[in-house]
Amino acid sequence: MPQLTVVVPAYNESAVLRLFHQRLGKVLDQLPLDCNVLYVDDGSSDDTWAIIEQLLIEDPRSGAIKLSRNFGKEAALTAGLDAVTADAAVVIDADLQDPPELIPALVEQWQAGYDVVYATRSAREGESGFKRFTAAAFYRSMERLSNTAIPRDTGDFRLLSRRALDALGQLRERQRFMKGLFSWIGFRQTAVRYLREPRQAGTTKWNYWRLGQLAIEGITSFSTAPLRLATWVGMASAGLAFVYGLWVLIHSLIYGDPVRGYPTLILVILFLGGVQLLALGVIGEYLGRSYAESKQRPLYFVEEQRLPRAPR
Ligand code: UDP
Ligand code: MG
Repeated sequence: MPQLTVVVPAYNESAVLRLFHQRLGKVLDQLPLDCNVLYVDDGSSDDTWAIIEQLLIEDPRSGAIKLSRNFGKEAALTAGLDAVTADAAVVIDADLQDPPELIPALVEQWQAGYDVVYATRSAREGESGFKRFTAAAFYRSMERLSNTAIPRDTGDFRLLSRRALDALGQLRERQRFMKGLFSWIGFRQTAVRYLREPRQAGTTKWNYWRLGQLAIEGITSFSTAPLRLATWVGMASAGLAFVYGLWVLIHSLIYGDPVRGYPTLILVILFLGGVQLLALGVIGEYLGRSYAESKQRPLYFVEEQRLPRAPR
């Protein structure tokens, strides 16, 4: 029987974890596959790990990894996916925003021969208009700025085949924009649509600051367009400055040079200063990232590990 591992990153999810496990369990019972569940406790500070330990006792098909601190969802996911030995893995959030009931549909596409089956939401319920707007703006700019098309309205909820897992396992970059990496590996990819539900309990760990960081992460790791933009803005302002300089030169040759022109002077200085700082900032973003990559630090550390029992 083919094997399937469901990877669940969990950070302070004690409020929903039991409910999640119940709902997931029901779905897995129905699947004609040898299924197991792998929780990754991303350094939770509540009793998430205690609950996971109980689940392991109650349900022998579950396993767990505890990271040594909170490394962030992308690293937690990576830790989980690295440990998967099954023929396919499903990545799902613990907060029930990704309905476990969709897993059979993902599996169906996998059995039809797809390597990456992602779940695309057709509605964003329980999210503010502003969140929807920023999300749409982000997907649109990613599409224009980078060569890797990232499917819209798609989270991390997806199924990965063995060869997709192996490919993903080779990408060890620190800047892990998972949605981008999932697309970047290629292979046969397809979507399954669903209705996204609001979070069942607990609170989201994403605020606008973290979302903003994620957006910058996504753009800088998949596109060098901002660097090019800095070059173009620099060239355009240098061109303008040259034309204006020529005009000032000719003007003062013809009409002499009375000491005036403070407003234009300060304007030009401020403008050029601003452009330079902007360009430096953009370069800094990339420099900081290549510094982080060059340190070659491991992506996560495991504190405790109980892998699911070996499949029959
Ligand atoms: N998560 C994690 N580490 C973190 C933040 C989140 O493992 O540092 C997990 C979290 O427990 C959940 C999933 O990632 O299972 C998605 O998190 P959340 O619901 O906060 O994000 P959203 O659904 O709002 O994008
Ligand atoms: Mg969520």
